[in-house]
Amino acid sequence: MSLPLLPDRTCGGCVECCRVIPLDLPELAKPTGELCAYCVDGAGCSVHAVRPDTCRIWFCLWRVIELDEAWRPDRSGVIVRPDGIEDGIITLYVLRRSDFLASVDLFVTVAGWIAEGIEVALSIPGPVGTYPARAVVTDWLRPAIEDGDPQDFVTRVIRSLDTLAEHDFQPDGVTARYAVV
Ligand code: SF4
Ligand code: SF4
Repeated sequence: MSLPLLPDRTCGGCVECCRVIPLDLPELAKPTGELCAYCVDGAGCSVHAVRPDTCRIWFCLWRVIELDEAWRPDRSGVIVRPDGIEDGIITLYVLRRSDFLASVDLFVTVAGWIAEGIEVALSIPGPVGTYPARAVVTDWLRPAIEDGDPQDFVTRVIRSLDTLAEHDFQPDGVTARYAVV
């Protein structure tokens, strides 16, 4: 999916999608959660000029919509995934449990999305080489939002993450192959 990017925003030192998003291309296959061998951690792609098309068009929504700097995935621990947006679903892919989950900004932003009729899903990675777990949680979060209760909101988020962590994570079947150059 190719979405218009914010003109003044760059990934900076974030490389989270080069780690957590699986690729299964002829020239580059990497399992979910494996940092791409072409990625310099904290710096970015070492084969930028010849990177696969998929890498050229995949961007998290922090690169697309006006979210604060604190939302940058390596800082927040959350990737706002673009897949599903065409169906009105925004997925928060929670890579780790950071203080960001308890931030007022997250609460207010998610409340705004739900008020606009957008569905919200939570997702977590499993072990390296497995598909993530994901669930739409709009109705579960709604009472906290309707009550304007950020504490209840984060409690509900954490409970959802705990439930997702019990998921039977399935292998993604991707065997690493690095042949871009
Ligand atoms: S080829 Fe470059 S952009 Fe693509 S996953 Fe690897 S490091 Fe990231
Ligand atoms: S997760 Fe988003 S901000 Fe981070 S490297 Fe990927 S596109 Fe850039």
